[in-house]
Amino acid sequence: MLILLSDAFDSGLPDKLKKFGEVTDDKSRVPEAEVILIRSKTKVTKEYIDGAPKLKLVIRGGVGLDNVDLVYAKGKGITVYNTAAASSIAVAELAFTLMIAITNHVAKADKSMHEGKWLKKEMKRTELYLKTLGIIGMGRIGTELAKRAIAFGMKVVAYDPFVKSSDFAEMKSTMKDVFQVSDYVSLHLPLTDDTKGLINSETLKDFKDGAYLINTGRGKTINEDDVAEVLKSGKLKAFGNDVWYSDPPENTVLANAPNVTMLPHLGASTNENLLRIGDIIEELIADYVK
Ligand code: NAD
Repeated sequence: MLILLSDAFDSGLPDKLKKFGEVTDDKSRVPEAEVILIRSKTKVTKEYIDGAPKLKLVIRGGVGLDNVDLVYAKGKGITVYNTAAASSIAVAELAFTLMIAITNHVAKADKSMHEGKWLKKEMKRTELYLKTLGIIGMGRIGTELAKRAIAFGMKVVAYDPFVKSSDFAEMKSTMKDVFQVSDYVSLHLPLTDDTKGLINSETLKDFKDGAYLINTGRGKTINEDDVAEVLKSGKLKAFGNDVWYSDPPENTVLANAPNVTMLPHLGASTNENLLRIGDIIEELIADYVK
């Protein structure tokens, strides 16, 4: 059995998987691979699957499966798994990092100091304490973020059409109810037909003036042009973003919009998470072999 590591994983993973067969990271061997391990970079499209006649198992290290043609894979008898639970802490901590960073001007202050500027008077911080955090998508990551926000003395509200109650947030029945009361809005949505472009010029009208937006879910759930416009008008005070239309983004308007803190899709990239992902992959392949 040939196991192909098509994206970046923990460096110890090939050793862990050797007991199951040959392990390679040589992407030209897709046609021979029975198991292919991916993260977000490899796109398992219809064409990709057609070029992999021996493929039986695809494991996505991480959560989102929007880079896999699930229907076509199923039709070809290919099993697709993700490692859904592994990344929750890593992504929640990054969303919280962005919330703290944009409120406290961390990136701008650091850049100005490196440029020899002293902008103490120009930079007024605000506190998270007693502010309201609105979470859109109250799944695993949204829930971990809510726990952390409560520890900081924030009020947490959330909207999720499939989650009616939570121990960590007051669930609202519409997104608008969340936007209208939130000082911070954090997106934790999968990319689906329903969530694509969900944050746009219309929905942004419901935000509080001067609200902060954070997106560590999927880039295409926001309309970048519309978000750039409300940043320019000041309706949104700042935007912390980890996820893009493509990795890396091509000509994103956000690069030239004011008060945007940009990260290169780092949500899942902790050492601890990569180790957890590796352990789950080992278990999934062991089950498959059995
Ligand atoms: P999850 O499935 O546990 O939670 C997603 C939640 O979104 C679910 O509860 C679902 O009911 C809800 N939802 C679906 N459609 C909705 C809608 N229209 N409005 C409101 N809520 C809706 O997934 P998770 O583990 O919390 O991950 C969330 C997303 O985070 C993933 O789908 C992935 O896109 C993204 N993610 C990003 C990174 C990163 O590196 N930045 C890493 C991992 C996951």
